[in-house]
Amino acid sequence: MQDSRKLIVANWKMEPQTRLEAVALMRKIAKKARALEHARAVVCPPAVFLSVWKKAAGAPSCALGAQDVFWEDRGAHTGEISPFMLTDAGATYVLVGHSERRARGDTDDMIEKKLRAVLAHGLTVILCVGEKVRDEEGGYLRVVEGELRSALQKVGKDALSHVVIAYEPVWAVGQGAHRADTPGEFFEMSIFIKKIVGKMFGTNVAHAVRVLYGGSVDEKNAGGFLKEGNADGLLVGRASLDAKKFSAILDVAEKA
Ligand code: PEP
Repeated sequence: MQDSRKLIVANWKMEPQTRLEAVALMRKIAKKARALEHARAVVCPPAVFLSVWKKAAGAPSCALGAQDVFWEDRGAHTGEISPFMLTDAGATYVLVGHSERRARGDTDDMIEKKLRAVLAHGLTVILCVGEKVRDEEGGYLRVVEGELRSALQKVGKDALSHVVIAYEPVWAVGQGAHRADTPGEFFEMSIFIKKIVGKMFGTNVAHAVRVLYGGSVDEKNAGGFLKEGNADGLLVGRASLDAKKFSAILDVAEKA
């Protein structure tokens, strides 16, 4: 059965700086997550902190995610991490195609391979898509459509239950962002995303696929995206490094 809980994903990026800080933050989030019924927290720490998860927080209340993955199972791939290694560390979610990875050279072809490797190992993909600029002519819709079609082109319909789509307009993500998107614009985009998924996999799949919003989410704007924007969840960067702010977002999601 489809999980109807709001999925609130913490992307810690390259923070915090020490294992001690990571463990402390994991514990606080896991404790908060224990009280949730209508929301589910997923924490995506830097890869070096994945293995401390089980000891620090490994609670069923909260899931562990990775920020990236490589598509091969093993071998001479210096610096890479396989889906099997992520599974062994306790991860059940993997971010694929984050704009900060795309900016560092992840191509559509690499993202497609990563996505299929993650699915082949029974993990859930959080596929990030989003335009760099929002032009008046609607070219940004073609960008999002292209990213979706490319990433999902070789995936079977049944596997879509293990794909979550995170719409993250690049102009709204991270330190340099000028603003978050608006709930209304997100709502329209989520319908557009479902329309593309519908064309590729049929209306039942489109109806079931979860679409999250990400880009400068904080405790103040989270409710707007979840309620007016009807988001199935949120992908949170900077605000997920502050236990108080992230807990407040979880509270908002629990009541949305
Ligand atoms: C992200 O890293 O996916 C993100 C949305 O970052 P921020 O919330 O900091 O914009």
